[in-house]
Amino acid sequence: MNKLSAKSQAASAFITAIALFFLAISGAAAETSYVRAGRLVDVEKGVVLKDQLIRIEDGRITSVSGFTGAPADGPLTDWSAYMVLPGLMDMHTHLVGGLQSHIADPLTTTGAEDVLIGAANARRTLEAGFTTVRDVGAWRALTDVALRDAINNGYVPGPRMAVAGGYLTVPGGGGAITGLADDVGIPADMTRGIIANVDDAREKARYFLQHHVDWLKFIATGAVLTLGTDPGAPELSEEEMRAAIEEAKRYGKFATAHAHGAEGAKMAIRAGVRSIEHGSLLDDEALKMMKSRGVWLVADIYNGDYINEIGARDGWPEETMQKNRDTTDTQREVFRKAVKMGVKIAYGTDSGVYPHGDNANQFPYMVKYGMTPMQAIQSATISSATLLGWEKDIGAVSPGHYADMVAIDGDAIANIEDIKKVHAVMKSGEIVK
Ligand SMILES: [Zn+2]
Repeated sequence: MNKLSAKSQAASAFITAIALFFLAISGAAAETSYVRAGRLVDVEKGVVLKDQLIRIEDGRITSVSGFTGAPADGPLTDWSAYMVLPGLMDMHTHLVGGLQSHIADPLTTTGAEDVLIGAANARRTLEAGFTTVRDVGAWRALTDVALRDAINNGYVPGPRMAVAGGYLTVPGGGGAITGLADDVGIPADMTRGIIANVDDAREKARYFLQHHVDWLKFIATGAVLTLGTDPGAPELSEEEMRAAIEEAKRYGKFATAHAHGAEGAKMAIRAGVRSIEHGSLLDDEALKMMKSRGVWLVADIYNGDYINEIGARDGWPEETMQKNRDTTDTQREVFRKAVKMGVKIAYGTDSGVYPHGDNANQFPYMVKYGMTPMQAIQSATISSATLLGWEKDIGAVSPGHYADMVAIDGDAIANIEDIKKVHAVMKSGEIVK
């Protein structure tokens, strides 16, 4: 007994020594730095704090307090002349591939080219202050997964990405390559998400989930830019979407639905989506369903103006221009109504339709259509983080969150346009612009 006890004491002393040794090593490796924020937008409380000191350790914020002097145990980034916000988040981007003006454009580049173009788009997006995006579909399946992983591995700079892998769509639907001659072959990686029936929905959902997507993206109605499809008309059936969502749940993943028309949106909501994209023609019943079930609205209320201007200049098809006219103003009124009703709203712009890096252009529109500047900023930070289920890690400048921040010139609360004046961007405690 005594012998055993002596042995176990020695062992425990040895373990303690080892533990202290590793603690010392990890303590020495912990990287501490500070940011001084002239004004800090606290999106959790909805207030602006003056002259704050943010302590960062190993990429995460460990404390936020009033500035009383420069600490000695780490470098200080002096943003005392700027307004500091949490890293911005865009919940509807298409980073991979070039800007699309015609439906045949995706056929002019390879998947490899698309990803490299995507790397440039990712950098532009990050430098515009957007440190996280939800990328809701690429024409060539899984190219977005490749870009996400390259960013996470540090090969290329870019925002944190949640990706969908491709579009789940009916044959000839809003997420298919349409408008080409019947005898033109479409590459296999552009048809991975085409769903013919309920069993097919399960199979295609599994394909994406097994390739490590973060979300499923349904095309529940026709689309503005996809020729021959009607934004008001439902496409995927409720049963198909429900089957795919059952698969997503097994992997702990969510689904979102592109839906302009009210009927297609309601089918997607009943099937169990977490968010509705666009929502241009939603009626009161659809909005009430979203409100009562906690379904998020991600409405791209800026880019209709962009399409209208560039489409007219570049001679886009009249069908596209008409569909854009039919959905732009209605979408803004739906947005205004959703704000009034208290529907959950996250910030999403459909970048890739308009040039990447201009993601902040939508903020003034959201203020014009019913949000306060603080609400608009919250939609692009804490609300977007909650939509992703990542709110413990990102979306606010407070302890525990990654040190993702933007410093802007001016005062975005007094004048929302100032949010476009990005002075510097930090991701995980590293200055990236
Ligand atoms: Zn889109």
